[in-house]
Amino acid sequence: MKIYEYQAKGLFARYAIGVPKGIVAVTPAEALAAARSLGTMPIVLKAQIHSGGRGKAGGVRVIARLDEVETAAAGLLGRTLVTAQTGPKGQPVRALLVEEAVAVRQELYAGIAIDRSAGRPLVLVSAEGGVEIETLAARAPQKIVREAVDPAFGLRPFQTRRLFFSCGLDAGLGAAAATLLLNLYRLFIEKDCSAVEINPLVITRSMEVVALDAKVNVDENGLFRHPDLQALADTTPEDPREVEAGRLGLNYIKLKGNVGCMVNGAGLAMATMDLVKLAGAEPANFLDVGGGATAGMIGEGLRILLSDRDVKVVFINIFGGILRCDTLATGVREAASRLGGVPLPVVIRLEGTNREAGERILASAGLDFIPVRGLGEAAERIKELLSAHEHPGR
Ligand code: GDP
Ligand code: MN
Repeated sequence: MKIYEYQAKGLFARYAIGVPKGIVAVTPAEALAAARSLGTMPIVLKAQIHSGGRGKAGGVRVIARLDEVETAAAGLLGRTLVTAQTGPKGQPVRALLVEEAVAVRQELYAGIAIDRSAGRPLVLVSAEGGVEIETLAARAPQKIVREAVDPAFGLRPFQTRRLFFSCGLDAGLGAAAATLLLNLYRLFIEKDCSAVEINPLVITRSMEVVALDAKVNVDENGLFRHPDLQALADTTPEDPREVEAGRLGLNYIKLKGNVGCMVNGAGLAMATMDLVKLAGAEPANFLDVGGGATAGMIGEGLRILLSDRDVKVVFINIFGGILRCDTLATGVREAASRLGGVPLPVVIRLEGTNREAGERILASAGLDFIPVRGLGEAAERIKELLSAHEHPGR
């Protein structure tokens, strides 16, 4: 889960990581009031989106005079910002961080991520931070120094010294930077983060070490332990169906195609998506109802699938194990009766525990689903249905 820069900086402040003074604004008038109450010029207006690359895309503006704040804020708020990291659709700017501008002497980079192959947190530091870090990583990767952390011992002070010494930072600054990095590591661990990044981490003209930017990604699997972070979840950028499914405990991801898939188990769901593609079609979604799905959850899952206008054919592929086929069928029947029928063709493959019972429930509910036994047969039926949909009357 991504959080906004201003939220990440709020966390930083709680971990004694230096950040510029700043106030969030959602209207131009609020931005002006924020600049006034900071009581210093110049200030920086920073578009709050769940993405980096804002500087290069015009989402970070240094404003010299108070009478320019409102106009500049109006130019950013409500705009859709397309950066190198947002994809072509961009992200809407709904809030600005109004910050005192910092006189920058040097821009460093500091980040912590999980090195999955080593199974350890990896701390990265560079003396050449700033908006060109991706280019640096490609051009001169040796300029980004790394320390793998043994999770049992945590980040050791000698490692932080080694990192900043390699960067050529002088001893006094190195000590301040090292303390900051230890605090960042503590935050990373205590808040169950998947990645944290400060780019740029700056040395100011008055020789302080300050986090000018803040990126914090939280591992959603650990979110239940952090009510404070749960409150920061901003669900608006996602597909509303994904949000709803998430609340119901279903694992749903919206995709581009037109075959709606309902499957139990992530592995089977992946295999089913492959199958749909082999049939020359595209899945409209990934939906893993999981092993412990109740009839209620199944029904909700079907309703969410059917609410997607892109879906032309539904494919239910269930291997009855912990989730029994009769539970699945009961959920489908209840959803169908609540929705007054299922308006789309449904190809269904039931296999495993209580298959016959499931089939009986569906048949007695009068649902004329298209039963298939094997996956090859399923692919054939999906192909036929889609071509009938694309070429009606043929
Ligand atoms: P990003 O492009 O989304 O990563 O946004 P950043 O927060 O990193 O801002 C982009 C760039 O704007 C930074 O790398 C800085 O060079 C510059 N910048 C941001 N705030 C300030 C500031 O207070 N003073 C100065 N001098 N530059 C700033
Ligand atoms: Mn940045």
